Formats: sequence, structure tokens, C-alpha cells
Amino acid sequence: MAEIALVDCNNFFVSCEQLMNPSLLNKAVCVLSNNDGCIIARSNEAKEMGIPMGYPLFKARKEFKNVIYISRNFGLYHDISNRVMQKLLNYTPDIEQYSIDEAFIDLTGLKKLYRCSYEQIIEKIKYEIETEIGVPVSIGLATSKTLAKLACEKAKKDKFLNGTCRIRYSDIDEILRKTYIENIWGIGKNTAALFHKYGIYKCSEIVKQNDFWLKKIWGKRGIELKAELLGQSAYPVVSKVVLPKSIQKTSAFSQFTSDKNYIKDSLHYHSHQVCSKLRNLGLQAEVIWVMLRTKDFRVITEKMVLPEPSDSEFLINQFVDRLFDKIYDSQIIYRSSGIFADKLSEKATAQLFLFEDEKTQKAKKLAEIWDNIEQKYGKKCFCIGTMKDPQEESKLHGQNYFS
Ligand SMILES: [Mg+2]
Repeated sequence: MAEIALVDCNNFFVSCEQLMNPSLLNKAVCVLSNNDGCIIARSNEAKEMGIPMGYPLFKARKEFKNVIYISRNFGLYHDISNRVMQKLLNYTPDIEQYSIDEAFIDLTGLKKLYRCSYEQIIEKIKYEIETEIGVPVSIGLATSKTLAKLACEKAKKDKFLNGTCRIRYSDIDEILRKTYIENIWGIGKNTAALFHKYGIYKCSEIVKQNDFWLKKIWGKRGIELKAELLGQSAYPVVSKVVLPKSIQKTSAFSQFTSDKNYIKDSLHYHSHQVCSKLRNLGLQAEVIWVMLRTKDFRVITEKMVLPEPSDSEFLINQFVDRLFDKIYDSQIIYRSSGIFADKLSEKATAQLFLFEDEKTQKAKKLAEIWDNIEQKYGKKCFCIGTMKDPQEESKLHGQNYFS
């Protein structure tokens, strides 16, 4: 039997804000969506006041006074999310991040390694995340992902459980008898309505059906659901990140243009995006392509093999400039640009830093600092002199061509 845990941070965005500003603790706090449109996270106090998820801010402000409304800070949330995931990696490499604040971890067999029960392992994980990182979590444990998710919901709702809950194999029958199908992970309104049509409301009624019927009603997922509900893992924890073969970033200009500096700056912008992703994935590129698309949709490309594989825009941009100079024609009007990184390889874990020249080392340090700042304060928090987001409305130098 597998032992799968779901670790889920409580009111995650609000908890991150409270971590940075403890005066927000034990207060009604809501975090807002992009442009402060609506509510995307609530503290327990805000939930108790009855503020709905997704509620528009202008209505909430009128109806719910004495609530602290905060603009979202995704850089901060990503940073804390990374810390939580790193903590989980200390326990097992078998971790599957499901969302910014949730991850499945496969604990199968770890009981022997840690010489304690599975319950004690999840209690320890919870304790470490809460004391060392500072955000509250709930953890559900069961023999399948679907039941782990259900256990986690119980851990969150039932205060007597202290934030962890294990559904044992022997408890499954009773739990399925008590649980309505719409409370199951992956069963939305439409699927629930489909089963209701056949008089099926409880999970215990799903597992009584034969596979042939379930397949007819809900396809392969019907059979998988039955297995998962019975505690037989049909969806294993998938931890392996599938690495891309190439990375590309392209976008259209806000206006058609022939402006040489503007186009070059847009390429530097894409180059940073590509390199940042390469670093994130631990990859480096051997081949770089520069692409320009003309107003009449002609695509012009030029590529080169780098002297050595790289993930640094500070090194790659000099080659980007060379490639650009080769294909740019001041008589042509362009609509978009792009950078492709190709022939990707994983960076050797034991690189011989000794043999890197000063320039490479400096470029590496700068890129690292840049990534850290972006992680903390969000993308586009600053840019270097020669890059320009082509999507942003901008004053183009020289002649403008409106679409
Ligand atoms: Mg959560």
C-alpha cells in the first residue's frame, strides 16, 4: 500500500502577509486579485464574517467594514512556497507540487527510515514548516491521492485534529458511507449531477458499481475513481519534471516598427526571459536563434552555436546583437521578435568553477542576484538599460507605424 500525504498551506496568501507583518495576525484580512478586483484569500476571521471567495472589492468594502484588504504580492508567495517545497524535499524526493501552496508527497516506506509512525512523520513535517518557515499547514495522509485530499480537508475543518488527519485502510468503508461525491477531489458540479441522475450520492455507492458501468458513465476516470476511493492508488505521485527540449519567448510589438534600438531592446527582454527560465530549470543552451517577423508575416531567423553552452543573458546578448545585425533591415517594418534557446543540456552539477574566466563568473553572479530580486519583488520589478518589454505601450523612437 502506498502512503501518500497532501500538504496544504492554510489561507496561504494571507498567511504569507501575516508572516511579513505580524500585526495582521488574528484579524479579518483579505488578499486581492490582480488590480485589486476581487478577494482571492481570506483569513479565518474574514471567513467567519461570511466574506465569499471571489467577492468584488467594491462590494466587500461597503458590506464588510473593519476588514484589512491587501494587494497581492506574488513574489513573496512564490518565495515562501519554494521554502515549503524545499522543506518537503528534505523528507523525500517524491514530491509533486500541485499548486503554489499544495504538494503530494509519497511517504511509502519512510516509517522504517524515521523509526516512527506515519502519523508522527506528518506531525513532524507540520511542526517544522510552521516553526521554521512560519506558515500554518494541514496535512492529510491516506493510501491514495483522492483519500489524502479528503483527509486534508478533514484536518482543516475539524479543530480537534490539530491540522493532521490519516485515513487508515480500515477506516475507508465508514468514510465512504459518510462522504458525498461532490466533496471528492476532481468531481465537479457536472460530474456530480451525472451520478445523481443514476441515484448515486455517496462515495460508498460509487465503489459498489462494476467497472464496466463506471467506464461507460465516466470513461477511464470512473474506474480510477473507484480504485482511489478504495484506497488503491491509481494516480501515483509524479515527481519528475519533464525538461523542455527548447525554450522560446516571442511577442508582438505594441506598434509596428523599424526602430533598430527598440527591436534590439525587445530581444534583450526575451533573452532575459529565456535565460531566467533556463536557470530555473538548471539548463543551458548551446544554440541561440533570433527571430524577427515582418509586418506582412515573413519570418526571418538567424542562429549560432555559442562558444560554450550558457544560461546567462549577459553573455548571450552579445551574440544576440550580432545575429540581429545580420538580419535587421531598416527598410522593413516589423511586427514581432523572439529568442529561441536550443540544444539544451542539464548543467553539470560539479562544474569546474576554477576554469571559468572572470567575465563568466561576474555574469553568473549578476544573473543570480537578478533572479533573487525578481523572486522577491516580482517580474519586471526592474530592468537593465537595454531591454524593453515589447508588449508595453511605449514611445517608439523615430517613425511609428500604427496597426
Ligand atoms: Mg491552501
